[in-house]
Amino acid sequence: MNKADSERLESALVQMGLSSVSSPDDADVIFLNSCVVRQSAEDKVVGTLGSLKPLKVNNPGKIVALMGCMVGPKTDVLEQRFPYVDVFLRPQQYEPLINLIGERLGIDAEGCIGTLTASPNVTAYIPIIHGCDKFCTFCIIPYRRGREISRPIPEIVREAELLSHRGVKEVTLLGQNVDSYGHDLPGNPDLGDLLSEVNEITSIQRVRFLTSHPNDMSDHIIDKVAELEKVCENINLPFQAGDDQVLLDMRRGYTSDDYIRLVEKIRNRIPTVSISTDLIVGFCGESDSQFEKTLDMLREIRFDKVHSAAYSTREGTIADRKMKDDVSDEDKRYRLRAVDELQEQIQTELNSSYVDVETQVLIEGMKRGRIYGRNRSDKLVYVDAPEDTIGSMVNVTIKETSPWSLNGSLS
Ligand code: SF4
Repeated sequence: MNKADSERLESALVQMGLSSVSSPDDADVIFLNSCVVRQSAEDKVVGTLGSLKPLKVNNPGKIVALMGCMVGPKTDVLEQRFPYVDVFLRPQQYEPLINLIGERLGIDAEGCIGTLTASPNVTAYIPIIHGCDKFCTFCIIPYRRGREISRPIPEIVREAELLSHRGVKEVTLLGQNVDSYGHDLPGNPDLGDLLSEVNEITSIQRVRFLTSHPNDMSDHIIDKVAELEKVCENINLPFQAGDDQVLLDMRRGYTSDDYIRLVEKIRNRIPTVSISTDLIVGFCGESDSQFEKTLDMLREIRFDKVHSAAYSTREGTIADRKMKDDVSDEDKRYRLRAVDELQEQIQTELNSSYVDVETQVLIEGMKRGRIYGRNRSDKLVYVDAPEDTIGSMVNVTIKETSPWSLNGSLS
């Protein structure tokens, strides 16, 4: 979501005539988009802000802006802590920065605010629902991004069409809980209805969505993923923990058994589906044997990808107010390592089944001197191909695999 927000702001700044530079020394405007989902993310923002201070002090004309989840409804504490920051913006609150730049550079900013979209690449993110109503006990998101607000289908379709005219081939529909899309709109359309509409846009070739909540993944959504040609068979379905008491303490609203049954249902309906997940190790009170159940879940489901994180208390959350962060840092590190090692082994096995197989790849660009793209299962694929394939859909025969990527050449 932060990446999508940054892309939208970037696109507005480009419309105002600004362009990006490679070093903060050369920039007139320095904009940080902050994440506070974990302590390590927050520390990174604080460290970067600290390193910018001398630059701003020596060049008072530079504009320094901080946006994102680090900025709550009140900014007085941040203002005291970082007095050299010109403007603080809550997530998606672009106007104050755009107006400030407009004033300083004498540009009319109005039009730029009205037409915010992602910057045109081969792939683009489109936020479809903002905020989250779930209030999982560990999570700061509902406090920073607010309650769920869905964007109307016609507005999203218009944005996807506009992006497709600028060369975008794949869109990812984004939300903290994308499966609850539409419940607050007239007529209560759901994500399945929206996927059907976006699937109709001629020059959009692929559609993805991110992130799902197991309790809101309805049969209708699963059916649409199975049926719609452009919707990729790839679902990110966070399970967070394998133990039922830990899930209850997290207020996730399902048991490990519910989760396993849901995955079975999805796999029965969409046999080629790839499933990734998010999990937290070391949540308040998680014992060694409770953590073992997280490993059991990884062994049972065999996810294509796992985003793992060690729990850290986020101020103001339910866990912060009512629970104790009592798993030692050493245990958290050990558990993270155990997850990563097991998952590396699983991904090695899953990816090796691609050897000599042909897979369809949308070429996105160049990374470390190599052409890369993704297949429908969201596997990163490096391809021996010329640069002019960027933006094309190609068939690739896979020659080698690693736990993290596939390598191949044009078929
Ligand atoms: S569903 Fe996701 S975003 Fe919402 S509170 Fe839970 S973890 Fe946070």
